[in-house]
Amino acid sequence: MTDWYRDLANSGVGSTLVEQLGLPRPAVLRRYEPGAPLLTGPAVVGTAGGGGLHEILTRVLEDAGVPVRSSAATDGERLGAVLLDATGGTGPADLAAAHEVLAPAVKRLGPSGRVLVLAHPPSDADSPAQAAARQALEGLVRSLAKELRNGATANLLFVPVGAEASVPGPVRFFLSGRSAYVDGQVVTLTAADVPAGEDAERPLAGKVAVVTGAARGIGAAIARVVARDGAHVVAVDVPAAGQSLAEVANEIGGTAFQLDITAPDAAQRLIAHLRERHGGVDVVVHNAGITRDKLLVNMDAARWNSVMAVNLQAQLDVTQALLDAHGVLRPGARVVCVSSQSGIAGNRGQTNYAASKAGIIGMVRAWAPAFAERGATINAVAPGFIVTEMTAKMPFGTREIGSRINSLQQGGLPVDVAETIAWLSQPSAAGVNGQVVRVCGQSFLGA
Ligand code: NAD
Repeated sequence: MTDWYRDLANSGVGSTLVEQLGLPRPAVLRRYEPGAPLLTGPAVVGTAGGGGLHEILTRVLEDAGVPVRSSAATDGERLGAVLLDATGGTGPADLAAAHEVLAPAVKRLGPSGRVLVLAHPPSDADSPAQAAARQALEGLVRSLAKELRNGATANLLFVPVGAEASVPGPVRFFLSGRSAYVDGQVVTLTAADVPAGEDAERPLAGKVAVVTGAARGIGAAIARVVARDGAHVVAVDVPAAGQSLAEVANEIGGTAFQLDITAPDAAQRLIAHLRERHGGVDVVVHNAGITRDKLLVNMDAARWNSVMAVNLQAQLDVTQALLDAHGVLRPGARVVCVSSQSGIAGNRGQTNYAASKAGIIGMVRAWAPAFAERGATINAVAPGFIVTEMTAKMPFGTREIGSRINSLQQGGLPVDVAETIAWLSQPSAAGVNGQVVRVCGQSFLGA
C-alpha cells in the first residue's frame, strides 16, 4: 500500500511537475527505527517570558546526544527541532518573545523537524491575562503546524506546576520519529511518580500487554510495536480470525488468545488467562472495533447494538473487571483505548460508530482520577485517515481527498497509531492520563 502520489511528488520529474502545477508535496515522514537518533540535527531551546523547564529540556536533549543551541545559527545549519519553554509567561506581551524565538528557528528547520512548545495550563492561571496568553499558544501552535512543510510537526504540552518530572518521556516522544503522524496536538500532563532508568530501546521490557483485535490491521501493528519495545503480547481476537491471530502471535513470540470480547464471560476468561499464565497484566490496549455504517434514519437496531457492544460496552466491562480483579492490573498499569476522529468530528453514516468512539473519550476522562490513585493511567488514541486494507478499497476520489485533508497531506500508517499507543504504555508516560491523542496528521476535520 504505497502512496503513489507522494512517491511521484518526490521523484525527479514529478517534483518539478508538482511544483509547476502548485500541487501539494507530501513528504516522506521520518519514522522511528530502533537505534535511530532522537533528532536529525541540533535543537534550539528558547524561552518566552523566562521559563522553568530549560534545564530539563536541555538534559533530555543532551542525554540523547542532540547538540543544543540557544538560537538558530546563520550558517545554513539545519535544525532538528525548536523547543519553546513558555512556562514563565504572564500575559500577552510575552507572546512576542515566542514569535522571536520561533520565527528564525522554524526557517532553519530540517525535514521532519519538530516544534514543541511547553507552557502551564490556562486552567491554572492567576489572571485572565495569563490564561489568555497560555491559551493563545494553542492558536499559535495549531496554526504553525498548518504552515510547516517537509514532514515537520508542531505540538503543545501543558505542564502544571509540580508536574516537571512528567516532562522528559513526552518530550522524547514528540521529538522522535514515533510521533511522525501526530501533529497540531495539545497534551496536558499531570504530576506523577515517573520511574527512573527506562531502557530507551526496550521501554516495555518485562511487561505483559493485552492487545484486542490483534489479528490484522492496526491491532496487528500495535502487537508488533509493543513486542518490539520488549513486552510479551497476549494477542486477542475472535475465533474466526484464529489463523491470522496465531500468525501474528508467532511472529512476535507472543500468545494468541481467541476471545469474542462481547461474550458475557469475556472479561472473566481473559482475567483467568492472565492470572494463570502471567500473574497479571501491565498494558491493556482496547483496539478491537467494528463499523456498521448507515444513515441514522435507515439504521436498524442490530447495527446500532453490535457497534456499541464491541466498541464501547466491551471496553467498559473488561476495564471494570480488571479494576475489580484483585492484583491482576499491576501497579503502574497502562490502559489505552482506540477512539476515532469520527468520535470527535462526527461522520455521515456513522452515528453508531461516532457515538461509540466519543463514548470512549468520556470513559477515559472519567476514569483517569481513579487510575491515577493506583499509579496507573488510561488514555485514548484517536486515529484519523489510516491507510489500511479497508481504506484501500475506498473509491479513488474519496480515498485521495480523505487522505490529503490534513497538514501532512497524506494518510497515516497503522504503525503511527501503534507507536503512539506504545508511547502511552511506557513507564515514562506516567504523567499522561485522561488524554485523547489524535494520530491524524492534524486532520482538518474536527477540533
Ligand atoms: P480491522 O477491522 O482491520 O481490525 C479489527 C479487528 O478487531 C479484527 O481483527 C476483528 O476480528 C477484531 N474484532 C472485531 N470484533 C471483535 C470482538 N467482538 N472480539 C475480539 N476481536 C474483535 O480494523 P482496523 O482498521 O485495524 O481498526 C482498529 C481500530 O482502530 C478500531 O477500533 C477502529 O475503530 C479504529 N480506527 C481505525 C481507523 C482506520 O482508518 N482504519 C480510523 C480510526 C479508528
